[in-house]
Amino acid sequence: MTSEEWESLCDGCGRCCLVKLEDEDEGEIHLTRLSCRLLHVRSCRCSRYHERFSLMPDCIEITQEKIAQIKWLPVSCGYRRVQEGRDLAWWHPLVSGDPETVHQAGISVRSFAMSEARVKEENYARYIIDDFEPA
Ligand code: SF4
Ligand code: SF4
Repeated sequence: MTSEEWESLCDGCGRCCLVKLEDEDEGEIHLTRLSCRLLHVRSCRCSRYHERFSLMPDCIEITQEKIAQIKWLPVSCGYRRVQEGRDLAWWHPLVSGDPETVHQAGISVRSFAMSEARVKEENYARYIIDDFEPA
C-alpha cells in the first residue's frame, strides 16, 4: 500500500486527538472529551498537520509499521479496521464518497469535543468520559 493509500484509510473522526490521562498508580488510560489544542473541532482536522510532530511531541504518527503496537485507537478507526482485517463502515468517506458521513453517523468528535485550550490542566480530570465505541 502506498503512503497515500494508507493515509486515505483515516476517516477523519478526530478520536485519536482526544486527550488521554494516565492514572499514575494503576497505569490505566482514561479518555477525556477534551481535544488536542491543535484540533479544529468543527472539521475534526489538525490545524497544523505538517508541523504537528514538532509542535505537539505527544502526537503519534500512525504508520503501517506501528499500527499493531498502538492499542488505544478506537475500534471504528479505519487504520485499525484494515489492520484487523475488517471492512470499512458505510460512513467511511472511501465507502460513502462523502467526508461528512463520519460526522452524520456520530462517529466523529465534532458534536462533543472541547479544546483543551479552554480548560486549565488541573481540571482535565473533570472531562473524563467512558470510552465510547460505535457498533
Ligand atoms: S482515530 Fe483513526 S480514523 Fe479517526 S482520525 Fe484518528 S487515525 Fe483517523
Ligand atoms: S497535533 Fe494534530 S494530529 Fe496530533 S493529536 Fe493534535 S490535533 Fe491530532
